Amino acid sequence: MPVVPVDLAGRPYEVRVAPGLLADVGNQCAPLLRKAIVPVVTDANVQAAWGERIDASLRAAGFQPHWKVLPAGEATKSWPYLADVVDWLLALEIERKDHVLALGGGVIGDLVGFAASMLKRGCRFIQLPTTLLAQVDSSVGGKTAINTRAGKNLVGAFHQPALVLADPLALETLPRRELGAGYAEVVKYGLLGDGAFFAWCENHGPALMDGDQALREQAIAASVAAKARIVAEDEFETTGLRALLNLGHTFGHALEAETGFSDRLLHGEGVALGMVLAARYSARRGLIDPAEAERVAAHLRAVGLRTELHELGLTADGAGLVAHMLHDKKMDSGTLPFILLRDIGEAYLARDVALEDVAAFLDE
Ligand code: NAD
Ligand code: ZN
Repeated sequence: MPVVPVDLAGRPYEVRVAPGLLADVGNQCAPLLRKAIVPVVTDANVQAAWGERIDASLRAAGFQPHWKVLPAGEATKSWPYLADVVDWLLALEIERKDHVLALGGGVIGDLVGFAASMLKRGCRFIQLPTTLLAQVDSSVGGKTAINTRAGKNLVGAFHQPALVLADPLALETLPRRELGAGYAEVVKYGLLGDGAFFAWCENHGPALMDGDQALREQAIAASVAAKARIVAEDEFETTGLRALLNLGHTFGHALEAETGFSDRLLHGEGVALGMVLAARYSARRGLIDPAEAERVAAHLRAVGLRTELHELGLTADGAGLVAHMLHDKKMDSGTLPFILLRDIGEAYLARDVALEDVAAFLDE
């Protein structure tokens, strides 16, 4: 079983990756759990798909799971549900050394991680990520957050989990669109720092999407290792290394905003198109061979992701998209920090990108 150690200042933990981990959650977590009561927070979809198996595994290992089942969807990452979870944990008399289990996608992971960060000034939590996006991205790195009226992820904490169990079998019940959105983040790790991994994706992505468990396990482990390496070197976003994880995200966020953060475009789908745009823009600036930029589009298209603006029903509107980017908090005197590509596997943070130039590119 691949075990990826995440080594953050003084708080190392493991990300275990293997099929069957979820059904074995009781045994996997037993060495960490101090008392019989185990709080498990999830959403209604995940509860329907996995609740019985997780409950049975915990009971078989001698624990008494207590369930908190929240509505599925981004709206759950909010003040009311944060308060709800914290009050519920307090009522269960959860202490600092106890562990809360977060079973679900990034919404549950972010919400429960944040609740754990504040319960008695910080209790422990275990991530049981059930989306590909959560397995390769949100469950690693320790960022937790909720959304507020002012925007997404603006209130939160850095709080590392005690353990992450990433089970590729969890993805068997995940809708294919969600799988594709998570896969875009897998491809991102190849593009930003590992050309050989991108080539691996080109060779194996379609079979992975079609259900090959061994390939899914390899992709998750490689992605976690890539993210773990980056966040270990830049835990609190001070050196700029962690910014590379935003490859495709400036364009992607603008597209998410343009489509109203709706079902028209999932986050990862926006990132896929955003990476294509970042690659093509890099080619326009003469940084990368245009043929290499088109490899990015070709691969994402091969796994069923959209790679052209018109596929979103959007007519190119550079000024409109750039206006969304201007809302980005990292804007600095007419330029935005963009992650561009010098090559496949070689991303860098460009600080000299003029917004008019990006608008002109989007209008072409
Ligand atoms: P999500 O948690 O909403 O899950 C997507 C959908 O899949 C939901 O409807 C959920 O109920 C369903 N689902 C989850 N697992 C399932 C399964 N195994 N079978 C069937 N259905 C299942 O979304 P997500 O894409 O996992 O996460 C998105 C969130 O993650 C966003 O809020 C984003 O801000 C956050 N995020 C956080 C970080 C971080 O570093 N903390 C990084 C990236 C994204
Ligand atoms: Zn993302």
